[in-house]
Amino acid sequence: MKIAVIGAGIIGVTTAYELAQDGHEVTVFERRLAAAEEGSFANAGLVAPAYTTPWAAPGMPLKIISHLLSRHAPVRIRWPLSRQELGWMWKSWRACQPETFVANRQRMQRLAAFSRERLHQISTDLQLEFDRSEGHLVLLRSAKDQAQMQAGLQVLRDAGVPFKEISPEEARKIEPALNPDTSFHGALHLPQDEVGNCRQFALLLKNEAQRQGVHFAFSTTVASIDPTVGESASGIRLHLAGESEAQHFDAAVLCAGVDSARLLRPLGVKIPLAAVHGYSISAAVREPLNAPRSAIMDERYKVNITRLGHRVRVAGTAEIGGAPDDQRAGTIQTLYKVLHDWFPGAAQISSGVQVWKGARPMLPDGPPLLGASGIPGLWLNLGHGASGWSLSCGSARGLADLMAGRQPEVDLEGLDLHRLMP
Ligand SMILES: Cc1cc2nc3c(=O)[nH]c(=O)nc-3n(C[C@H](O)[C@H](O)[C@H](O)COP(=O)(O)OP(=O)(O)OC[C@H]3O[C@@H](n4cnc5c(N)ncnc54)[C@H](O)[C@@H]3O)c2cc1C
Repeated sequence: MKIAVIGAGIIGVTTAYELAQDGHEVTVFERRLAAAEEGSFANAGLVAPAYTTPWAAPGMPLKIISHLLSRHAPVRIRWPLSRQELGWMWKSWRACQPETFVANRQRMQRLAAFSRERLHQISTDLQLEFDRSEGHLVLLRSAKDQAQMQAGLQVLRDAGVPFKEISPEEARKIEPALNPDTSFHGALHLPQDEVGNCRQFALLLKNEAQRQGVHFAFSTTVASIDPTVGESASGIRLHLAGESEAQHFDAAVLCAGVDSARLLRPLGVKIPLAAVHGYSISAAVREPLNAPRSAIMDERYKVNITRLGHRVRVAGTAEIGGAPDDQRAGTIQTLYKVLHDWFPGAAQISSGVQVWKGARPMLPDGPPLLGASGIPGLWLNLGHGASGWSLSCGSARGLADLMAGRQPEVDLEGLDLHRLMP
């Protein structure tokens, strides 16, 4: 088939690669000059199936309210919110019901486990070399932090995920550069979690897809999607900004991150997708002996510190509302604070620090949308929220199987549009 992929973030690039693997003729349309320039640009890089869970969880609304006025809040609301954003928050609040949460968590963790396998397979088969490291340490500052995570540990046990609750002394053996002056209560070690540079992987896979014949049309914006091709033909027409002639494809896959909802609306497909912004700072390692070896998560502030080759990245915060380019200074200060608490002297922060604000394309209940759109020929692979890197390779393989009419290797129950229907 002749297939168009809209968007060259991590989801679009992996989708294009898998479709090319299946022998399709693929064109990717991307409004930016290169792949992975938006939400996939500088994320924390964590590939952590056990931690891939919906943010809409029991107790979450109360947590958000209790954080509203605190200086280093992990979640922030930038008032005023639009009507769509208020509607999204209402749906998210409803999805915090225990049964809804458990079902969505299972869906996400199943896909994440499969996705990690697929990531490993692709990386090995293609010998892709990108910054990566193994292991994930969740640091618990107080007994209260430890008590609050106990319910989550039972889930890990039930899912057979290997982990260990360890003392600060044991944690310091795994991450010897942890600041000796910062005391903490304990830690959770997840040896199978890993860190990988999402943007590097996307660029390498894009090159490989190009070698396999995928055409990337950069600086090309899809203005609208037109499912009405003609009486005798079926397929999808794409109207590109600045071009008078539409382009015709047998099928198209929408992977346009936060812009996906806008493209679907005129077709009568309404999805509650919000941009939940986050921030990261990335800096060169100043002294490797003072830097983290892999991934650290500060459970209280929900901030990740990850090692990406010669760089350290600190990422966190969920900001609902506000403009994409309006960076909040206080939030960036929180990232510096957490880095300084755990790894002072690890990074060169006097100059050359990359500060990034990116959007997580998030559905209110957690899991992504994967499958048919209800419009013949138009498929969806979007809404991966806080876990798009962890879920990318599995989502792409699953979608390619669906488009081929094959039974996907992973159970995709509950990931299609029906989940969001009232
Ligand atoms: C601070 C932060 C930390 C994160 N940490 C992690 C992590 O540790 N692990 C993890 O798994 N995930 C993490 N994430 C989430 C992850 O980064 C996202 O889920 C993922 O990047 C989304 O990928 P995407 O391809 O759907 O969207 P994007 O990367 O935004 O790609 C969408 C692409 O579509 C293009 N596009 C949009 N509209 C059009 C159009 N009309 N025409 C042409 N092109 C168009 C855009 O230019 C863009 O390139 C984090 C996110 C943030 C913000």
